[in-house]
Amino acid sequence: MQGIRRGRWPKVAKLMKDHDSWLPLNDLARALGDQGDELAAIVSGVVASGWLIQGPEHSAFEAAFAQYLGVSTVLGVASGTDALQLAMKLLMPTGRRVVVTTANAGGYSATAARQAGMDVRYADVDEDTHLATAETIGRVLEDSVGVVVVTHLYGRAADVAPIRALCAERGVKVLEDCAQAAGAATSEGMVGSLGDAAAFSFYPTKNLGAIGDGGAIAVHTDDDAGVVRELRQYGWRGKYNIERLGGVNSRLDELQAAVLRMRLPHLDRDNRRRREIITHYAESASDAVTVLRADGAEHVGHLGVVVAENRESVQGALAQRRIRTDIHYPTPDHLQPAFAREYRDLTLPVTEKLAAGVLSVPLFPEMTDAEVEYVADALSAL
Ligand SMILES: *Cc1c(COP(=O)(O)O)cnc(C)c1O
Repeated sequence: MQGIRRGRWPKVAKLMKDHDSWLPLNDLARALGDQGDELAAIVSGVVASGWLIQGPEHSAFEAAFAQYLGVSTVLGVASGTDALQLAMKLLMPTGRRVVVTTANAGGYSATAARQAGMDVRYADVDEDTHLATAETIGRVLEDSVGVVVVTHLYGRAADVAPIRALCAERGVKVLEDCAQAAGAATSEGMVGSLGDAAAFSFYPTKNLGAIGDGGAIAVHTDDDAGVVRELRQYGWRGKYNIERLGGVNSRLDELQAAVLRMRLPHLDRDNRRRREIITHYAESASDAVTVLRADGAEHVGHLGVVVAENRESVQGALAQRRIRTDIHYPTPDHLQPAFAREYRDLTLPVTEKLAAGVLSVPLFPEMTDAEVEYVADALSAL
C-alpha cells in the first residue's frame, strides 16, 4: 500500500452532488462486483458438484482457517451468534450458569447466552480501548460464573493473557468473540487462538465476509471439536443417534464455505487497507473528535469509530457533506428494552459514557483514496 494519494477529494464532492448520492458507511457491491467472475465460478462449481452441505469446500475451508489461526480445529456453523451459543455450551462447567460479557458490543453474546439457557452478567470496559480487562472482569466474577466472553471490539485485540490467568484460577473458561477481529495478530498468536475457544461471524460486512450468513468456532482439542460437531447437528454422534442434549441445527453451507475459502487469502491485504484508512482519519481529524486508532497487526479496523463530545453536531456536519454515519452501538445491553427490567440496579459508568459518544464513519477496503480523503477533510474541518 502506497499511502493515500492526495488532492482528489473535490472530485468526490462534485460527483456526489451531481448524482445526489452519499458516501456510504460500507459498500458490499464493490467487492461483489470486483469478484463477480470468481463468485459466478464458485456458484456453478458448487452446484455442479452436487454437494450443498458439509462437502469438500466446507472441509477445505475449515482446515485452511484453522491453519491460518493456528488452532487445531475450526468448525463451520450458521452464524456468529450460533458460534457463541454453541461455544458457551461447550465451555460452561457443570454446575455453573452465568456468562460474563460486555454491554457495549451489540448484544450478540447476551442473545447467544440466553439461547443457551444461561444468565448474563456485565463487566464494564476500559475508557481508552472500549474493551473489557482483567480488572473490569475481576469485579464481577462470582462462583456461578463459568464463561467469560472477551470481545475484540471494532477489530482491536483485547489483552487476553491476564484475563485467562484470572479465569484459570477460578475454573472459568474464556471465549473470544472474534466477529469483528478476523486476522488480528498478537505477540501471543492470532485472535481466535488465545482463549479456550473462539467464535467468528462471516456476516457479509465482517472483515472476512460470506455472501450470506455464516460463522465458525475455533477449538484446541479433538475432544472439544467432537462436542461441537455433535452440538451443531442435533446432538448426533453418528447419523440419527442423538447422544448429546443441547444440540441444534447450525451448519455453514457449502457455497458460503467456498466463498470464504476464496476470500481468506485476501484478508490480510484488506485489513492493512482498513488500518491505512483509519490512520489517515486519525492524522487528519480536528480536536472535535478522537479517532480510535488502529495501529499495528493487533488491530484490523473493523469499524472506523470516533468519539465525540458533541456527537449530534459532528453527525450533522458530516451529513452536510453527504457522509453516512452510524452508531455502534447506541444502547448498551443492560438498557435495552427487552433486558432492562433484569438490570434495573446496574450501572456501567464507562460503557454508558462511551455509548453516548461513539460514531462510525465510512470504512471499507474498497474505498478509493479520493473518498478516504473526502472523509478525512470533513473530519479536519469539524
Ligand atoms: C456480528 C457480530 C456477532 C454476530 O454475528 P452474526 O453472524 O450476525 O450472528 C457477534 N459478535 C459481534 C461482536 C459481532 O460484531
